[in-house]
Amino acid sequence: MSTKTLTPMMEQWHACKATAQDALVFFRLGDFYEAFYEDAQSMASELGLTLTSRQNIPMCGVPVQVADQYLDKLLAKGYKIAIAEQLDNPAETKGIVRREIVRFLSPGSVIQSRLLSDQSNNFFVSIAKTSQGLALGIIDISTAEFRVLETAHLRELLSEICRLRPAEILISERFAKEEAPFLQELSQEFSFLLNEQEERSFSLPLCSSALEEHFSGSSLKKLGLDGSYAETIAAGSLLHYLKDTLYMDLSHIQTIEKDPFTAFMTIDKTCLKNLNILPTKDVQFSLVDILDDTLTPMGARMLRHWIKRPLIDPLQIQERFGAVDEWRQKPEGLQEAESSLKEIRDLERLLMRITSGSSSPKDFIALKRSLVAVQKLRSMKPFQTKLLSHCFLKLEDTSEIVQILEETFVDDPPFRLHDGPCFREGHSASLDELYAISFRSKEWIAKYQESLREELQIKTLKVGFTKAFGYYIDVSKSQAAKVPPSFHRRQTLTNSERFLSEELKEFEYKILSAEDRIKAIEKSLFLEAKKTIGAYARLILSLAKAIATIDVLRSFAKTALSHDYKRPTLTREDALEIRSGRHPIIERSLDFSAFIPNDTTFSKDARLHLITGPNMAGKSTYIRQCALLLIMAQAGSFVPAERLFFRPIDQVFSRIGASDNIAHGESTFMVEMKETAEILRYATADSLVILDEIGRGTSTYDGISIAWSVAEFLLKNVPAKTLFATHYHELTQLEKEFPGAKNFQVSVQEDAYGIVFLHKITEGKAPKSYAIHVAKLAGMPQTCLERASEILLSLEDSEKKPNPLPKTSKPSPPPPTKNLAWIEEIATMNLNAMTPIEVQQKLHHLQKTLRLL
Ligand code: ATP
Repeated sequence: MSTKTLTPMMEQWHACKATAQDALVFFRLGDFYEAFYEDAQSMASELGLTLTSRQNIPMCGVPVQVADQYLDKLLAKGYKIAIAEQLDNPAETKGIVRREIVRFLSPGSVIQSRLLSDQSNNFFVSIAKTSQGLALGIIDISTAEFRVLETAHLRELLSEICRLRPAEILISERFAKEEAPFLQELSQEFSFLLNEQEERSFSLPLCSSALEEHFSGSSLKKLGLDGSYAETIAAGSLLHYLKDTLYMDLSHIQTIEKDPFTAFMTIDKTCLKNLNILPTKDVQFSLVDILDDTLTPMGARMLRHWIKRPLIDPLQIQERFGAVDEWRQKPEGLQEAESSLKEIRDLERLLMRITSGSSSPKDFIALKRSLVAVQKLRSMKPFQTKLLSHCFLKLEDTSEIVQILEETFVDDPPFRLHDGPCFREGHSASLDELYAISFRSKEWIAKYQESLREELQIKTLKVGFTKAFGYYIDVSKSQAAKVPPSFHRRQTLTNSERFLSEELKEFEYKILSAEDRIKAIEKSLFLEAKKTIGAYARLILSLAKAIATIDVLRSFAKTALSHDYKRPTLTREDALEIRSGRHPIIERSLDFSAFIPNDTTFSKDARLHLITGPNMAGKSTYIRQCALLLIMAQAGSFVPAERLFFRPIDQVFSRIGASDNIAHGESTFMVEMKETAEILRYATADSLVILDEIGRGTSTYDGISIAWSVAEFLLKNVPAKTLFATHYHELTQLEKEFPGAKNFQVSVQEDAYGIVFLHKITEGKAPKSYAIHVAKLAGMPQTCLERASEILLSLEDSEKKPNPLPKTSKPSPPPPTKNLAWIEEIATMNLNAMTPIEVQQKLHHLQKTLRLL
């Protein structure tokens, strides 16, 4: 439509849309928010609403009263939204009311509590790339966390972003073009809103001044960002975008922290998934679930942060162990702390809501009660260990804030300001006076009604009030003649007439102006309270951090006590020794005593452990257990083992299971090789590598060759500690050729009825695969099993297999028999990963093959 034919209202809409750009515009029209054109189409299809049209313009609307629920849904689907409000009161405006965008909403800048999970952060990150390097600006507006992190590799950036799982990522147009494959890889991991901004928003001068302005003129040097261009741009672009584009109030964000990437253990993105570290829909228990016994939302978020970023510095780890131990030895202290912690609400988010002006009067009361509970916690007997005594020292005296809140607000204010008395008597003399007028008005009306009834002799006369018409005197039609002519008729109803007397009119004026004044005073007192609390923001945030730390350490102690976890021992030597280790997640899903503990010891002679054993024997459980124990320990938790003696590791890598990425053109084998290549490139002497089958996604001999060469590469070039579970028995020969390789097996007991899994790791190599026994346990038909055994025997007899990978010669090709493919299919079936239907289909296929043989 040409602009000439546009109505003035649509002209306003176009002006708003030009400002909103890619954000969907919620355009206020009376009691509705309307969307037009493509916005209307998106809104109708995303929210299942009816698309209408006016003058051929598609439109879709939602009532203002219930708009929040629609906004939430659109934000959850990753939309940016611009709210255009009416700036004038339509009742008092001649002509068209002004409409302008007053705020933006986007998934990364959500502050409404209904959209936030207590346990997790809502991160908004910005990526900066300069010739110096890469940096990530990280902000959670709802908790005031603001960090910046510099890294040299996209790979590290990818891991970090996967850990953070931000709701929104800010990038420059150039980064989007240059790093398209990186962004594509990221989008395969989880969903987020990719927010592309013009290059200008990532310029150094703009970002530097955004930072300096926000931190009240603090120089970049003072902020620790002097000369760090990438970090300055990453942090500054976030501030600039949130404040200048989304018009957000970020006054509660008072500090910025530099996060040294190298201070934490790197858990690569495949490990996060493979080891079930974070809760997901697909797993019943994750490491976080089994460790989390926190009582405050701040504690829950900090626990997740610690687990995702385990420490490397032995001193810091030791401090956490000391604190957990101290809690563990104080059962009565644990109880006392728990009763206080339970009373503490989400201080970070309460503060954010109060300072950003989106709070309810109830938030102030929640803050007061939480601070009273902090005082109780503060009065606990002193702690001895460094970390706990430091945290308790940080619990500063908050009685002053408690007193202010006590004197300002009534104990049970309404949810919304103006919906009832919020402020305590004595807080404001003028408000008290107006409250009294308002309160007395009810008395006055009752008396006036009584006097009119007597004077006019109308027993049923009523004095009432409606929002639309104001005060009135209601008289039934049959009695209306008794009303004196000085009364003005206000309204005629079916059965009654409504009048207004001069006296009532005067009263109405007084009352309504009192109510207006009450509202104005309440609003200004509320703003004043917001400002007063805002002045304590730094103190409240520091309290929140200390409480979170106390809560996590207490939670670790509780879990240690209830599940018999032991304190690990740190060493400077290059050692890793586990005595009677248990898999923390599997042991919870089994009856506690049913889990068989196992030992793991790395040494010069046993740096690469080759673990063989039948399917279902417990190989995967065992190698994952080792990685999980180290992650737990370096996060500061005690561990399910009699003893863990270790030097902190820098990275944990894993190559586990078969997964493909068909949607992105990558086969199972391709994914497997990519993950393996990463390990070979980046693992160091201080890393732990766990490999659960390599080369399974290709033919046996190719697979063996690759598995062998990977193990050989690790032994020769990457002195990382490695646990390698395999079904390729040929690999056990590595022990003879390399001093660092050592064979382990998971024992089983064979009897007349089949095999019994002992789940015990012992030195040596497994005698055979037992795949057919496992197939029997899985319920394969007897004829099929018997035929498989026959074929296996004939293969074993006929194939005097050569050493598959003698150092000089190439591996021999597999014998060209169609039986081999058949048996191989059974041997490589991963029954754990198959649904009953898939097993049935496979069997059907095998039967058909059998008939052909
Ligand atoms: P595959 O070679 O088929 O992948 P696997 O040898 O890796 O099998 P796991 O998947 O580790 O076997 O273990 C199979 C099941 O055995 C686990 O789900 C668990 O229930 C049980 N299990 C494993 N280890 C133990 C243990 N130490 N104690 C008790 N039960 C165990």
